[in-house]
Amino acid sequence: MIRRLTARLQSGPLWWGQCLLCRHDCEQQALICRQCRDELPQLEHPCPRCAFPLAVTDAHCGQCQRRPPPWQRMRVLADFESPYPRLIHDLKYHQRALNGRLLGQLLARQLAPPYPEAILPVPLHWWRQLRRGYNQATEIARGLQDVLNIPVDTDALRRLRATASQTQLNRRQRKRNLHGAFAARPMAYHHVALLDDVITTGTTMTELTRLLHRQGVSRVEVWAACRTLDH
Ligand SMILES: [Zn+2]
Ligand SMILES: [Zn+2]
Repeated sequence: MIRRLTARLQSGPLWWGQCLLCRHDCEQQALICRQCRDELPQLEHPCPRCAFPLAVTDAHCGQCQRRPPPWQRMRVLADFESPYPRLIHDLKYHQRALNGRLLGQLLARQLAPPYPEAILPVPLHWWRQLRRGYNQATEIARGLQDVLNIPVDTDALRRLRATASQTQLNRRQRKRNLHGAFAARPMAYHHVALLDDVITTGTTMTELTRLLHRQGVSRVEVWAACRTLDH
């Protein structure tokens, strides 16, 4: 299934009405064709707290039972496997903002009520956002908004300084790297969703969830297009 989809992936210029993945014509207003959509990999029975795939629905994984993460729920579209890495790479580095829209719309179809009062995209440092022209997490949030009509609040959180990439750092270095990196505006929400493109270590989401809890937000969900599997 996945191999078939990967074989069809096309790059190059995109015309209006073409599938973002295979460039064939698609139905009106759709961003991908029906065939690509049917073949997209999805998570089976994710743990409600960390999205780790399990054998049965709505069970919590052992790790979340022992040491639950600070957020109340995690929802992701899929593991970080084809075609998602390319969609996200092009979204971040090749000005394909429409890919964010697609990822948001796909994620929206996996969600169920009760919905949060607002979606809070993980902020970029202003300098990085200026260079990219947009925040990829906000583009994904717009796709969610297309389907679910939940307000997107891009002012609630602010990144105070540019942080080094987390990927080469160990657990303690990651925490130190993010300490004091974000600020939150006073807010009246009780239930929000933090949104990012990919969740890797969860350190950013941990930092932001604690910040929101300190602001009086009692229920924080963590949403992303993908999560990488390290458990
Ligand atoms: Zn297609
Ligand atoms: Zn879990």
